Amino acid sequence: MDFGLTGRVAVVTGGSAGIGLATAEMLLEAGASVAICARQEARLETARAGLAARFGEVRILAQACDVLDPVEVGALRDAVRDRFGAADILINNAGQAHIGNFAELDDQAWRDELDLKFFSIIHPVRTFLPMLETSRAAAIVCINALVAQRPHPHMVATSAARAGILNLAKSLSIDLGPKGIRVNSVLLGLIESGQWDRRYAARAPAGVSREDWLQGISEDRGVPLGRFGTAREAAAAILFLASPLASYVTGSYIDVTGGMARHV
Ligand code: NDP
Repeated sequence: MDFGLTGRVAVVTGGSAGIGLATAEMLLEAGASVAICARQEARLETARAGLAARFGEVRILAQACDVLDPVEVGALRDAVRDRFGAADILINNAGQAHIGNFAELDDQAWRDELDLKFFSIIHPVRTFLPMLETSRAAAIVCINALVAQRPHPHMVATSAARAGILNLAKSLSIDLGPKGIRVNSVLLGLIESGQWDRRYAARAPAGVSREDWLQGISEDRGVPLGRFGTAREAAAAILFLASPLASYVTGSYIDVTGGMARHV
């Protein structure tokens, strides 16, 4: 299927693992060139080498970058410009959730979480905007979560921050629409990824397999499709919103939760 992405350039933050890596892979399959970034260089290099082995070296750039550091995001932009000469697509994916209820979180925890959720979008958007403005198929996709609409008290800061960035994405879509830049979000539910591997290692009772532990969580949460989603299932929605197939879609979102959202 032609997604209209051949020759386009995509930047995927947090592209060394999980949903970001699956998104980079699908963008490459669709013919785009892809720049990935993450903080840990070793894991980033493993991801780069794996992608290069499948898709060749030419269409892949990997550069260590903390999206919370505007200087590093600027260096990423320079590397993308030097290698590819343009950027058409920005996937704001880097990040993770912060577990904690209201009584457990101090001011610093709140600040850290609000910082991560907002500035992981603000810095890349501000930095890549001049390049996106010159594209004829510019798109920004913000990776968000259902907790933006259906908060979890045990993830109180993440839920509040995610509601804020859903709002931010809407503002950006109105602001940037006249420049031809579409801005959309995906609201994820339970998606198998590195985050859940870490949670399994930290929290699962001894003797319970990863598969059984994840299955138990999806049952507890009442996921109508009865299971976690895969990183590629999340990436498929991201790919659609990033591609010209969604050329009249902006300020919107796709729910990728296996039906967990109960509102209409
Ligand atoms: P993973 O932990 O598997 O991957 C996260 C990626 O983000 C890694 O590449 C990580 O690399 C990178 N990253 C984290 N912080 C930064 C940073 N400050 N700067 C640059 N890169 C960073 O997680 P997922 O694939 O699960 O998560 C992807 C996104 O989806 C996240 O924003 C997450 O919150 C969101 N999400 C995931 C859900 C799920 O069920 N999996 C549900 C809802 C939302 P490194 O650590 O080396 O920087």
